[in-house]
Amino acid sequence: NASVAIVGRPNVGKSTLFNRLVGRKLALVDDQPGVTRDRREGEATLGHLAFRVFDTAGLEEAADDSLTGRMRQQTETAIADSDIIMFVIDARVGVTPSDRQFAELVRRSGKPVILVANKAEGRVGLDGAYDAFSLGLGDPVPLSAEHGEGTSDLLEALMPFFPDADDEEEEEEAGLDEEGNLRRPLRIAISGRPNAGKSTLINQMIGEERLLTGPEAGITRDSISLDWEWRGHAIKLYDTAGMRKRARIDDKLEKLSVADGLRAIRFAEVVVVLLDATIPFEKQDLTIVDLIEKEGRAVVIGLNKWDLVSDQHGLLKELREEASRLLSQVKGVSVIPVSGLTGRGIDPLMESIFDAYRIWNERVSTSRLNRWLVDMVEGHPPPAVSGRRIKIRYITQVKSRPPHFALFGNQLSELPRSYTRYLVNGLRETFALKGTPIRLSLRSGD
Ligand code: GDP
Repeated sequence: NASVAIVGRPNVGKSTLFNRLVGRKLALVDDQPGVTRDRREGEATLGHLAFRVFDTAGLEEAADDSLTGRMRQQTETAIADSDIIMFVIDARVGVTPSDRQFAELVRRSGKPVILVANKAEGRVGLDGAYDAFSLGLGDPVPLSAEHGEGTSDLLEALMPFFPDADDEEEEEEAGLDEEGNLRRPLRIAISGRPNAGKSTLINQMIGEERLLTGPEAGITRDSISLDWEWRGHAIKLYDTAGMRKRARIDDKLEKLSVADGLRAIRFAEVVVVLLDATIPFEKQDLTIVDLIEKEGRAVVIGLNKWDLVSDQHGLLKELREEASRLLSQVKGVSVIPVSGLTGRGIDPLMESIFDAYRIWNERVSTSRLNRWLVDMVEGHPPPAVSGRRIKIRYITQVKSRPPHFALFGNQLSELPRSYTRYLVNGLRETFALKGTPIRLSLRSGD
């Protein structure tokens, strides 16, 4: 469970904020015997988030406006013990020298900080908040701990640091154990234009004429997947062709088949886009890749009917180049020759599918990300907008499947697309996120 320290000079309202977060549960807080700590701890809830919170408010009376040794020590301990820091200032007073001393402690810790401008009832004191920017801790979140105003902004600011809170389902679903082995069947959809050879390939994989037997054989609309096993791994194959063929039986169902194809993609974790290597990269192929990218699935390109290709070496080189040019949204995607007819290439295709799956599940640590971000911003600073520089200050990965990052700073809505592309490409290269969609959310304080 994440822990949050409430830090700041005396009288900015740390206790009030603590009480607001912990509420009635405060009664349950007990001091651990034998441990003398000048702080209170409690279980906080804010929206759907639950976390441990502590403050140094016990020192309020002891300390005056300067940072005494005891207070400094307690604050440092609180910072060290926490994952996230809420640094509180008084919005009506503005930034005092004492605030700056505390800010220095906080900044030195390198931990994620949420700057809270408290006592901002009715948003008063927001003019003063402007000078809070000079603390270098990002945009202040205006709050009235006493009146409970601004808690949704606070929640918003905290959310990115709780990657698991909104994806319990995802955690449950995450198919990899600690060693990176699959815990349950890998769900693969085989997609592609009609006649790319999807059915043939799947038949070859599962080794029986199961698909072509049609609806009479009892493939019901609900059982849209086929169970298979490859090198001891359980696989569920979602076949988009089988559904299309079934749909043909009834004209009315043509539209439904598109929806079913989409459903297969949504069910799947990795989607193979099967191209006919003799007529590759048709418009429809590109549309399918776009769709998969929008759905956020891992992608592998299969070049089918490779048995018909004479200059295999030349064509492969050419098509890989073409893929990197045409499919920039999943840059680095694997392009694997295969023949559904002979079965050649199925093993390399499967290996690429597993690689793509691992990348899709990747989690990059916040410290690595932020070291990378410093280099990126130094190498190529974002432009100034109407005299004010866009400030990028922090990045964290909020989700995986596919990798999803949140970028924090000021004026981020003004970031040119070319700049976000620069960042996404950088993420892709540095953290080897090949062939997966990447999401980047901008969380700006203004
Ligand atoms: P689907 O519509 O994508 O399911 O495509 P099918 O599996 O029905 O295949 C369409 C046509 O391509 C059929 O005539 C297959 O025999 C042929 N075909 C499929 N895979 C291959 C392959 O790897 N090599 C060759 N030479 N022909 C193939």
